[in-house]
Amino acid sequence: MEIKHHWTQEEITEIYNKPLMELLYEAATVHRKYHNPNTVQVSTLLSIKTGGCPEDCGYCPQAARYHTDIEGNDLMSVQQVKAQALRAKASGSSRVCMGAAWRNVKDGPEFDNVLEMVRTINKLDMEVCCTLGMVTENQAKRLEEAGLYAYNHNLDTSEEYYKEVISTRGYEDRLETLNNVRKTNVTVCSGGIIGMGEKEEDRAGMLVALARLNPQPESVPINALVPVEGTPMEEQQKVSIWEMVRMVATTRIVMPQTQVRLSAGRTDMSKEGQAMCFFAGANSIFAGDKLLTTPNPDVTEDMQLFKELGLDVQKPFEKHSQRKSVEAADSVHQSLGEKPKWSRPGHKIEKNVEAQEKRKKAKA
Ligand code: SF4
Repeated sequence: MEIKHHWTQEEITEIYNKPLMELLYEAATVHRKYHNPNTVQVSTLLSIKTGGCPEDCGYCPQAARYHTDIEGNDLMSVQQVKAQALRAKASGSSRVCMGAAWRNVKDGPEFDNVLEMVRTINKLDMEVCCTLGMVTENQAKRLEEAGLYAYNHNLDTSEEYYKEVISTRGYEDRLETLNNVRKTNVTVCSGGIIGMGEKEEDRAGMLVALARLNPQPESVPINALVPVEGTPMEEQQKVSIWEMVRMVATTRIVMPQTQVRLSAGRTDMSKEGQAMCFFAGANSIFAGDKLLTTPNPDVTEDMQLFKELGLDVQKPFEKHSQRKSVEAADSVHQSLGEKPKWSRPGHKIEKNVEAQEKRKKAKA
């Protein structure tokens, strides 16, 4: 079946608002056509550099400008990452995603270390993914050579609502990063967050932006906002399970081949709610008691749920193969010492400014 790319916001909003039983039936039918409905991938998200981020993403406790309880840490060592990856593998994860709280990748020793982490996890026969902020084409090629399987860079929301969430980087730059990754054989992972105060049209708008990419992203994480005290979104109301199910089902319908990842916000979902998300087309979860900095269900609880639902853990590389890593000394794509000028829209977001002021007062 041919994949449709030219979705409109109206069409997707209409799907999102279908009677729930009809929506579920349609999504589950698409899901069965393209995926094994009885397997779910388990991934582990590792925060390799936490906190102190210069960006102002209104949902994020890692932004240095807000007053949160996050304990920051410098870049982990390759050995620490290897130990955590082995632990994740032993508990059933087939994919490790390494996240660093950076605005963008900078050529230099820290990036060289990350490339070594990629090589190390690649050799453990696990899918290796990174989320490091914006990347240039050469940096994406260096990650590809190191043996990266996927690069994550979320669009977060629609282009229209994005202006209410982030002022320090532009939507265009996000798309440019995805485009740079697409010039390599690294797969693209990009999704967003619901519950940030956006309208249903914005949820559809984000899916339009993702579905129009050709090829569509191989992986789309759907997060429910976990409001964290001290961030501009601390008072946002949590989304209902119905909204999450609708978002997962709609994503599945418009991006049939994609791995849909049920990401942040699972601690607030019942087992039944999660089961409904799997039925609607979610085929990946993140394991471990922390998702970067927010709480996540314990892996033993997840395995118990899989048992109850008769789900199997998906093996690595079922969708794509992973290239062998090239050692640093043999790599063709060396550091260019790039200093790319990513944009800074710099518009004022009232609630972000208020959260920053609060921090200043708390520090004084
Ligand atoms: S979401 Fe990423 S870029 Fe934005 S503030 Fe948090 S760590 Fe920084």
